Amino acid sequence: MRRTRTVISILLLTLLFSGCVSSQKPFVTPVILADKSAEALRERAVDLQYHRQRQVMKIWHRLVKENAELCQQNLHGSLEIGLGFAGLYFPPLRSVYKDRWQVGERPTIIYLPEDGVAARGGVQLGDQITAVNQQPVPKEDISTWVEEILLPAIRNQERVSLSLIHQDGTPLTLTQAPTSVCRFPVEIHDDDGIYAATVEGRLAYATQGIIRFVRDEDQLAWALGHELAHLIMRHNQPNAEREYSADYLGTYLTARAGYDPASIIDFWQRLATETPATIEMTDHMQHPSVTIRIEQIQAAIKEINDKKANQQKLLPNI
Ligand SMILES: [Zn+2]
Repeated sequence: MRRTRTVISILLLTLLFSGCVSSQKPFVTPVILADKSAEALRERAVDLQYHRQRQVMKIWHRLVKENAELCQQNLHGSLEIGLGFAGLYFPPLRSVYKDRWQVGERPTIIYLPEDGVAARGGVQLGDQITAVNQQPVPKEDISTWVEEILLPAIRNQERVSLSLIHQDGTPLTLTQAPTSVCRFPVEIHDDDGIYAATVEGRLAYATQGIIRFVRDEDQLAWALGHELAHLIMRHNQPNAEREYSADYLGTYLTARAGYDPASIIDFWQRLATETPATIEMTDHMQHPSVTIRIEQIQAAIKEINDKKANQQKLLPNI
């Protein structure tokens, strides 16, 4: 698989939530064109990516927060902030991120759920982090500092002290107990394939291809909920049984996060139209047929709707 990683640093939310992302892949050094039309296209590219990063941060945050009780021992702390910073972005776009969204060298808050720990403590969108537990952000290699100092401080400690600076220059120090969320991070990968997946049981990602293909946020939420289900159930190699069980649990995770899982039926039908091979079953049942998956997802949705109607908690029957 191609592995250009765009990083969504969904840092804390999973990033924010949890997991940051590193930019291990060296960027090719481009010749940067200075004309106006190139600048206009860069602005559109940045706006598109910024929107996608925030959308994935929002969905993932809801999934890992609302399903914390189903993640059992797989929990860690979160301040409920989504971060971006220049080192994560393609070099020609860095100054555009700064001009349009005030995302500079230092980790900057690019997503902030209103009811989250950080928002309640006075943090605002666009705030820059200057230190954690009195350890200042370094001048260089901010990605390493984020992964090795900032994220462990938030995830593993009962209280964390985060120093920030608002856009108007006013400093703020937030001393808070992080909230518990499922410990898995999420990323966006630059890949045109229409899918989401997990890496080594550690993290989930969505491709640019699936983000483009979905028709609404509910569909992307279901796709990521399915991957969170694989992570919770510790699936390694895929097979049909595991796909069915991730569909079942993932449908619950999606509904519990406040999304409508029924929207995914349209996604599977359109995907089958584009790639008819998914209608069939392979020899060894590595990949189940989309028609069987749809039937089983519909059964799970009915089970969930019955529970809602009876005012029962949405707990999967496993
Ligand atoms: Zn799967």
